[in-house]
Formats: sequence, C-alpha cells, structure tokens
Amino acid sequence: MKMKLQRWALAGLAVLASGGVTLVALMEMGQMARTKAQGQGAANARLPTIEEYQPKSTLVAAEHKPERAKYPFVDVHSHHWNPTAEHVEELVKEMDTINLRVLVNLSGGTGESLKKTLAVMKGRYPNRFVVFANLSYDDLNTPGYGKRAAARLEQDVRNGAQGLKIFKNYGMDLKHANGERVHVDDPEFDPVWEKCAELKIPVLIHIAEPSAFFDPWDYHNERWEELREFPQRARPPSKYPPFETLMAERNRMFAKHPRTNFIAAHLAFHGNDLDRLGKLFDSHPNVYVDIAAVLAELGRQPYSAHDFLVKYQDRVLMGKDIYDVNEYKWYFRALETRDEYFEYYRKRHAFWRIYGFQVPDEVLKKIYYGNALKLVFAASTSSRAVKAWNR
Ligand SMILES: [Zn+2]
Repeated sequence: MKMKLQRWALAGLAVLASGGVTLVALMEMGQMARTKAQGQGAANARLPTIEEYQPKSTLVAAEHKPERAKYPFVDVHSHHWNPTAEHVEELVKEMDTINLRVLVNLSGGTGESLKKTLAVMKGRYPNRFVVFANLSYDDLNTPGYGKRAAARLEQDVRNGAQGLKIFKNYGMDLKHANGERVHVDDPEFDPVWEKCAELKIPVLIHIAEPSAFFDPWDYHNERWEELREFPQRARPPSKYPPFETLMAERNRMFAKHPRTNFIAAHLAFHGNDLDRLGKLFDSHPNVYVDIAAVLAELGRQPYSAHDFLVKYQDRVLMGKDIYDVNEYKWYFRALETRDEYFEYYRKRHAFWRIYGFQVPDEVLKKIYYGNALKLVFAASTSSRAVKAWNR
C-alpha cells in the first residue's frame, strides 16, 4: 500500500516536472477525482491512510491451515514472568492442543525468583518446561562483577536452570556507572560465557534489533508502521551505536568463546540477508538461531528460506516469543506447506503477505525439536529420552 501511495504522489510530481501542466490543471484533475469519488459515495472522497488501506486479496489458491504441528515441538523462545500455578495449568492444556511438547521460559530471573518459577513450572511438569536464568546487573559496577555473575549462574543451574537468556538491553541500554555503554564483547562478561561452556548450557542472546530500527524513520523504512506505533523502538544514532557496530562486537564475542553455544535470537537479525547469516554460521560453528517473531522474513523469500533451512538444518530452532496459542499456526503453515500469499499475524512486522516454504520432514524434525534437544538438554537428557521424540 505504501508503494501505491508513493506511486500516486510520484505521478503528481511527474506532471509538475513536465512543466506543461499548470497548477490550475492539477486542481482540475483533483476536482475530477473528487467528482468521481462522490459518485461512489462521499465517504470515499479522500485517500486512505496507510492503516486504512487493507486490500482483500482476490487470489484463489490452495489453502492448508494446520492447527497443530506435524511433529511435537520445543518452543525455545517464550516469556512467562513469575507464572502462577493457574497460568501453568492453562499453559499445559493449550500446549497439548498444538503439539507443543516443551516450552522454554526465558524469563526465569535469578536467585529466589528463579527458584519460584522453577518450582511452579518444572516442579509440576518436569518434562514440559525448561527455564532459563537471567543475569542481575545490580552489582555491575562493583569490581569482580563477571566472576560473581558466573558464580550466581552456577548456583541457578544447580537449582534447575538449563540455559542463560540475555535480553536486548545488553549492548544497547545497559551502561556502566561512568555512563559508558556495555559493549557486547565487554571482557567483564567473559567468565559468564566461559561458565556456560563449562556447565554445557546454551546462551540465548538478543543483540540489536531489526536493522530498519536503526535507519531513518522515513517513507522508505519498511518498519514505518511499527516505529509509528512504538516510537521508542527507534534506535537513532544520537542515542545508540550503529547496527553494524553491534554486529561486529557480537561476532567478536562469539569468536572469543568457541566452546560456548550461542542461540542468536530472531535469526540473529539477518533474516533479511540469509547469505550473511550463512556466513555467520560458516565462520562460527558455536552459533545457532531461533526463528521467533521473524517468520515474515522467511515467508517473503520462500525459495531462499527453503534452501537455507535445508543447508543449515542443524543450526535453526523453533521459537515464537510473545506467547499466544493462536499464533503458532502461522509457523506450522509456513514450515509445513507451500501455501501462497497469505496474511501474517502481526501487521506491524510485515505489511507484506507470506508464503509457505515447506521443508522436508527430516529438516522439520530438527527445527521442531532435534536441535533444541541437543543444545538445551545436552547436559541432562538421556539418549533414550531423545529417541522417544523420534517415534
Ligand atoms: Zn524474547
């Protein structure tokens, strides 16, 4: 719709540029348009806004709408802060309806609050939930932070945490007391990454944001609508490091800790450049990604997405991010079918429609659970338990 509006605007400009048409003529054209519109009803007499323009597709094509995943799956990217017993009961019921076998709650916190979350989730359903710990930055400015954070993590893992989640403030908003931004590869955190290798737990890490958030908010920005809805998501250079700076710091950190497994959240924000993501995989064997909240990136390039997932089938994990049992079916449809040109569930992420890129069953199983079992359960699950998934 944006393109269409631009085309209209451009048509007007072209007329102006041609010089042969006076302003009066332009006004007459406007008058003609108005008259025509009035014929269709006064309500249509102005151009729709971007939000208002919601064309209904007239395409008739085969539709498959799986309501449940073809194989059991692990959602490695979900958030449930301080869940109650009732919430957990409800969750399990909902999970069963879509074949969601294991849900990874990335928002476990640390210390006592983590213990509570572990008790309410794993305590009740040990085989249905995994909880990741988070770092506390409260004592960041007291010397020896990294070692203390690593020790706390070790205790959290002893208490039952099975991974570490790093939230997006890391590298962007997190600051030292002197006001300096904590760089992604800040050596203070080295003991934490090394501890994860030692404990054989993965680090699911969210670094940066979609690159469009770092670009000017203008009519060429493909996340224009989202930035209008949530202006605070913009990452202007006056306040934030450039996207490329964050990527460079992140990759240096990945390289410095080759024994640590990192799951870069949201396709490492390279979903719009799969060649680049492939290069990241090639040069960093310890790096994996989830597809949480970036399905529209794959869905707009179904051929490339298919080939990419086949090639890197051992490196990609299923995740959803914001939990809503009704939204997983877009993932099933994109991964399992070749349906064409269907609407996405979150318009602010994608004004475009998406396409299914149906991956082979063996690849699907790895994305749905195989890779997660290897990474998340490496330290704790018997091969017998893993085999049970394959039946
Ligand atoms: Zn998340």
